[in-house]
Order: sequence, then C-alpha cells, then structure tokens
Amino acid sequence: MQAEIRAEDKKPEVKKKFDVIIIGAGPAGYTAAIYTSRAKRDTLVISGSLPGGQLVLTTEVENYPGFAEGIMGPELMTTMRKQTERMGATIIDDEVVNVDFRRKPFKILTNSEEYESEAVIIATGASPRKLGAKGEHEFSARGVSYCATCDGPFFRNQEIVVAGGGDSAMEEAIFLTKFAKNVHVIHRKDKLRASKIMQDRAFENNKIKFHWNSVIEEIRGKEKVNQVMIKNVTTNQQETMDIGGLFVAIGHEPNTKMFKGQIELDEQGYIILKNHTHTSVEGVFAAGDVHDHRYRQAITAAGFGCMAAIDVDRYLSEKNKK
Ligand code: NDP
Repeated sequence: MQAEIRAEDKKPEVKKKFDVIIIGAGPAGYTAAIYTSRAKRDTLVISGSLPGGQLVLTTEVENYPGFAEGIMGPELMTTMRKQTERMGATIIDDEVVNVDFRRKPFKILTNSEEYESEAVIIATGASPRKLGAKGEHEFSARGVSYCATCDGPFFRNQEIVVAGGGDSAMEEAIFLTKFAKNVHVIHRKDKLRASKIMQDRAFENNKIKFHWNSVIEEIRGKEKVNQVMIKNVTTNQQETMDIGGLFVAIGHEPNTKMFKGQIELDEQGYIILKNHTHTSVEGVFAAGDVHDHRYRQAITAAGFGCMAAIDVDRYLSEKNKK
C-alpha cells in the first residue's frame, strides 16, 4: 500500500525562472530585492554561504540611519530579510557555484538547482583578509574587528592594535586615535606600503606607535580580547601586549572568483562598472563592496543596491519594448 502524502510533507515548489536574480544577501542584495520586488519584477535572492553578509559577524551597528539607539548587526540583517520577503521576493539559502552570462536568459547554478533570469545583480561583497593567527576566529566581534569606522567608538580610552602596513591600516590607525589611548601598528616589514601622504600623517600622530618586522602570533582573552602575542621576525623574540582591541586591516578580497572570464574585473578582482551599475555584460549589474573598495559601508552598499535595482527595472522595461 502506498503511503499517503500529506500536504505538509510536500516541499513548496520554487520556480526556476525569474525576471531578476540577485546573488548575495547583504545590505546591497536585500535593498536591491526590495526595490525590484516593489517594481513588480519577479525576484529571486540567492543568499550564499553567509546570509546577511559581513554584518552578521559584527555586534552593534551605530551608524546605520533609522536606529536611534543602534542595532545589533545580525538583527539588522534579519529585519532586512523580513522586509525583502514582505515585498514578495523569494529568498533561498543556497550557494551559487557557476553562472553562464554568455547568452540570455542567464543561467545561475547553485549547489542544488539551476535558475534562469533576464537580469542579474551581483551583490556578493568582499571579505576582509584574515591574519590566520591563533584565536582570531574565536575573538571575531569580541575585540577583533575588520572595520574601524564600524567599531572604533566602542574602544574609547584603550590600547588598540592595528595590523597591516597599507593605506587602510594607516587610515584606520589615524581614525582610531580619536578614541584610543594609544594605537599600536604591527607590521610584518620594516617599511610601510601605504602612500607617502598617509605615512606622513601616521608618523606625525604621537598616539600611533609602530612595531616593525612583527607578526601577531596569538590573540588571547576571556569574554573579550585582552592580549596579543607578537613575534619579531628578525630576532624571533616574542612579546605579549595588553590590549583592548585589535583591528585587522590587511586588505579585502572581492567575492568574484566565479565571474572571472565572464565579466570584466580589475587587477584586484573587483567588478568594473561601465555605466552607473552596469557591468561589461548587458543585463548583469553589480552593487556594493563587490565593486566598491572605497567606502565599504552597509549604508553605501544599500545605496548601490537601490541604484542597481532601478537600473534593472529600466533595462527590463527597455528590453520588453523591443
Ligand atoms: P593593501 O594590499 O594595499 O595593503 C595590505 C597590507 O597588509 C600590506 O602592508 C601587507 O603587507 C599587509 N598584509 C597582507 N597580508 C598580510 C598578512 N597575512 N599578515 C600581515 N600583514 C599582511 O590593502 P589596503 O586595504 O591597505 O588597500 C587596498 C587599496 O585601497 C590600495 O590600493 C590602497 O591604496 C587603497 N586605499 C586608499 C586609501 C586612501 O588613499 N586614503 C585608504 C584605504 C585604501 P606587505 O606590505 O608586507 O605586503
């Protein structure tokens, strides 16, 4: 006898064809989906391996307008997701493994399905490079941060470490002197990679101390970070330093590997925009940190998401006229 199939045993069918597919579910992806859905474009968001993006790895967000008391990063992203669903977008928690932008409709292959769409918005973001030091993962968002603009004000009057020797590290170190007692820049070489002007500004700031030829080997703490262990790579001498926080500023990597060879990227792998949010492929758009290595803020990513959605809506309207 065949088992009876009850209604609740049936998985809801997810459609395979959409007007627009948005790859990535950070502030750029969700904002884009809110706008395309409100414009009555059938929208699928594929969230990727970190639904909510970098903000789910942070604690309090104080600089996103609309939240007078601040909001926790994960809560902000859950709220954006609910808003996106309420607007009618479909969201699936799956990872895109391949795309075919050579002909239309575009094809997007995930771990479990293949989807098609007339337009695509890439909002896959960028990931901060990790030091790879012991304790880094454990204390992430508990004293280890990858964004001084986001988290600096939480470290008032403390000894703070910045790892890196590029422009980002100098910019973050200078910014952090507004709050910190002292900022210790730990750099693996004996000279900086940063531009001359940023170096000069950092050297002139008497709150910034430089520790040359040094790497962070271990990050320690209890509830929060309270110490780093540093090794001088020329003398092999180890030293522990009591600190209140560590900012890692050793560069970012855009999440664009799967688009290589299909759309134009710059030498660092960021998507090159052609005309507002259009990429080198007609019908494929990009929004957020995946193309923007300058601002890298939740609010700017959300802004780019809105722009890409408006561009998609115009593109689809033009296309349907032909
Ligand atoms: P960069 O790649 O320029 O610099 C990264 C720094 O981190 C380098 O000093 C590098 O060391 C160090 N580093 C890399 N990996 C490790 C590791 N595993 N352990 C320890 N140290 C490591 O990245 P940025 O984010 O600083 O800058 C990216 C781009 O953005 C650049 O073109 C920069 O000019 C630009 N930018 C400009 C700004 C401005 O003008 N105000 C502000 C911020 C960024 P090493 O030197 O030994 O390679």
